[in-house]
This record gives sequence, C-alpha cells and structure tokens, in this order.
Amino acid sequence: MTLFKNLIGGEWTASHTGATFETRNPADTDEVVGVFQKSDADDARQAIEAARAAQPAWAAIPAPKRGEILHRAAAILESRADQVAREMTREEGKTLPEARGEVGRAINILRYVGGEGARLGGEYAPSERDRVFIQTRRRPLGVVGLITPWNFPIAIPTWKTAPALICGNAVVLKPSDLAPLCAVRLVEALHEAGVTKGAINLVTGPGSKVGNELVTNSAVKAISFTGSEGTGSAIAVDAARRRARVQLEMGGKNPTIVLADADIADAVNVVVNAAFFSTGQRCTATSRVIVEAPIVERFTAALVARAKTLKVGNGLETGIEIGPSIDAKQLATVLDYVGVGTAEGARLLTGGERLSSGPHARGYFSSPAVMSDVAPEMRIAQEEIFGPVLAVLPARNLDHAIEVANGIRFGLSAAICTTSLTSAYEFINRIEAGLVMVNLPSAGVEYHVPFGGSKASSMGMREQGSVAIDFYSEWQTAYVKY
Ligand code: NAD
Repeated sequence: MTLFKNLIGGEWTASHTGATFETRNPADTDEVVGVFQKSDADDARQAIEAARAAQPAWAAIPAPKRGEILHRAAAILESRADQVAREMTREEGKTLPEARGEVGRAINILRYVGGEGARLGGEYAPSERDRVFIQTRRRPLGVVGLITPWNFPIAIPTWKTAPALICGNAVVLKPSDLAPLCAVRLVEALHEAGVTKGAINLVTGPGSKVGNELVTNSAVKAISFTGSEGTGSAIAVDAARRRARVQLEMGGKNPTIVLADADIADAVNVVVNAAFFSTGQRCTATSRVIVEAPIVERFTAALVARAKTLKVGNGLETGIEIGPSIDAKQLATVLDYVGVGTAEGARLLTGGERLSSGPHARGYFSSPAVMSDVAPEMRIAQEEIFGPVLAVLPARNLDHAIEVANGIRFGLSAAICTTSLTSAYEFINRIEAGLVMVNLPSAGVEYHVPFGGSKASSMGMREQGSVAIDFYSEWQTAYVKY
C-alpha cells in the first residue's frame, strides 16, 4: 500500500488538509490499492497558481521540443506498461488485456500528439492591400483544468493532457477519486520526461472541492471534462458565467442495429463485445440492440447463449472476460435497472443477478443481463445504466430501426451489423451520433481521429486526432506591412 501525493509546482506535495482517501480493488474489496491526498479548494488554488507561474516558460520551449518531451514520456510509460496495466486492473476492475490495451493507447497518444509539436503551423493569406502579409498561428490559452472519470483512467487523462501541453498550456489535472492511480503514473512520466516544473500539476480529491475550484477560478481559461451528464451540465453553467472555454464529453445510450441480412454469429460477437466487455462501463458501450423482425428470435437466442458463457471475475486472472462494477453504488444501479426493466414489462432472459459466492465473494460482480420485449420509451431503453445490461428492441425494417435508434437524448456512438452497403450508408447518413460503426462494436475507437458525440452526449469541440488541439489553442492573426 503506497501513499501518493499531489504534484504541485514540480514537487510531490501532501494536501494541506492532512486528509487522505484510499482506493480498493472492486474485484476484492479487502485489497487497498493506494492512498491519495484528499485535497480541497486551497490545494487546487495552489496548483492553479503554480501553473500560471510556469506557463510562460513552458510555452517558450519551441513546440517541436515540447513534442520531444511528450515522446520521452511515452518511452517512460512504455517501460512501465505492464505495472501500470496491472494497477489499472486492480483499481478499476477491467481485465488485464483491456488494461494493457488502454496503456498502449496512452503511449500512442503521447507519440501522436508529440508529433503535433512540429505541425502546429498556421496559414499565410493574401491581403487586399499592397505589400501586406497576413499570417495566422496558434497561441496557448494559459492554464487549463482537466477533470476526468474513472472508466478510462489513463487514456482520458492522456488524451486531454497531451494536446493541452503540446499547445503550450499549463495543466491542472483532477482525476476521479475512484481510480486516480493511473493519472499519477501519467503525470510521473511527464514530470520525469522534463515538462517544465509547474506546467503539469495533479491534484486528487473530491470533485465538489478540487473540481469546483478548477471550474470557478478565473485563472483557469478552459475546462475539459469527461464524466456524467449531471456534473457536466453544472460545469457548463459555471464556466459560462465567467466565459471560460468548456468541452464536455458525457453519457451515452448507444444502439447497435442488427439487420436481417447480417451474419448472426458475427453480430452476436460485435454486440457481446460492445455491451458487456469492460463490464459495460464504456461511454460508447451498446446498451440497446435493435433487431430486424425476421431474425429477432434467432439472434436473441444466440445472444443469450453467448452471454451465459461469459466468464465474470477478477480481471487479473487468465480467461476472465468481464470484471466487476467499479463500486457498490454502480453495482446497485445495475441491479436496480434490471428491476426497473422487469417492472416496466421487459423480460429478463439471462443474468442481472449479483454474484457473491466463491471467487465473487469480495467483489462487485453481477452476471451480464439481456432483457427482451423492451419498448423504446421504457427507462431501460432511454437512460444510461453504465453496466452489463442490454435491452433488445425489435424493429420492422431499417427505417424503423433508425427511428428507434435516434429516439433518445444521447448521440455518442452507434453501430449497425449488415451485409448491405446501401443499408450501411443509409445508416451512416441518418444516424444521430458522433461515432458510427459498421460491423464493429460501438465501443473501441482509435487515437488519431476525432472522438465525441452529438445531442446530450457532448458539448464543445472534439477530442483526439489532429483536431484535439483546436480546443487548447486560439488563433492569432498578424498583418504585416513591409
Ligand atoms: P462523474 O461526473 O461522477 O465524475 C467525473 C469527474 O468529475 C470526476 O473526476 C469527479 O470527481 C468530478 N466532479 C464531480 N463533481 C464535480 C463538480 N461539482 N465540479 C467539478 N468536478 C466534479 O462521472 P464518473 O462516474 O466518473 O464517470 C462516468 C460517466 O462518464 C458516465 O456517464 C460516462 O458515460 C461518462 N463518460 C463519458 C465519456 C465520453 O467521452 N463521452 C468517456 C468516459 C466516461
């Protein structure tokens, strides 16, 4: 058991409160994974001040050189990849292969965004006037506050921190209390790689104190948030009051449409992966499968048969496919929604039970649930559950399936399984979602292309890919008469 500190102004620092909190393994709650600083608004203010002081020096380092520092951080993280992946499985619960994949993704992001340092160019434009040059360039915003959730505990901190730093901003990162250890590992790598002291700061503690200070402090010029819709909406209002730039990535209720021409075995694999892997705790997870009438019975039977074979347990063990819910509250939410669905008239075909004996005795485990006879207006078809609960909805045809898929407030990710190119493009054209998959799980995105949703899922500019730097920079236009 290790005590982890905040990084403020380049020094590992205990919170002035003297208080700490611990994280426990959700697959074995007897195991304490780490002890962290229970910081408050004063700690956050200190970090913001350190960031403000350091930002000009960090921005003065030429951008390609800042990129080299990100590349060094990638190499440091790579040298520790296995350790960090194991820590992630112990703290967040996802399986070790999933955790390894996520650490690999963080390394790729650091390398990819590091390359942006040499590509931060602007434009030359012809002037209306004689002997005038017009040039544009990106300038950093100053101090940015990054607030992250627990479900991708290294990928999300990395996909915010890397573009913020490459643009020359100083960062204060506040990770989720439920899984802050990977963010510590990321910040260690950046610090050791040579990011200017004070340009990368980490403060752990409650969102209501540390996060709120980042949102309300006028020295923080932009806030990038990923998390629940409720928290994100409140942040948007607070940020708007002081006209801070804000970017929100929030919930989803993602559909997968399965058409009658789909290969059923392939479609089952796609849907099982999207709905149940990572315990359904992905913002892009499929929680509604909308199946064309002629195959609804055959598809559902094959889906249920496969769901019953899924191995639930401690993600460190070989062969485990699904880990625990992150905590007791999330597990209760999952079980509650199974009850809500049943009360609304849906039929529980498999799963939806707490697993609490033998290897499951000390964790937050439940069996993956499939519910049929779900109507589009039911709560289990409308509200984000964030767990291994899948609703099956029938559809008359592609048009009806798209109508049902779009009939929600969210618009993050959506998938279709079909062998028809025409149906696939019809779907791409008409679905209301920022991420669209054909014959692929709705979850599982790549680091070098834009990421984000529509409708209530997102607000502000896209993350990841080359467009990520748009949020973290502003254009300056220079007119030069010679
Ligand atoms: P959450 O909203 O509870 O917490 C997210 C972060 O906000 C945490 O660091 C938390 O401490 C902080 N926070 C809480 N209250 C705050 C406040 N008043 N001011 C400032 N910060 C505050 O979300 P969570 O439970 O950690 O994450 C799960 C949610 O995240 C799900 O809804 C999921 O869909 C969403 N998510 C979205 C994406 C995406 O890219 N769209 C990705 C991953 C997760």
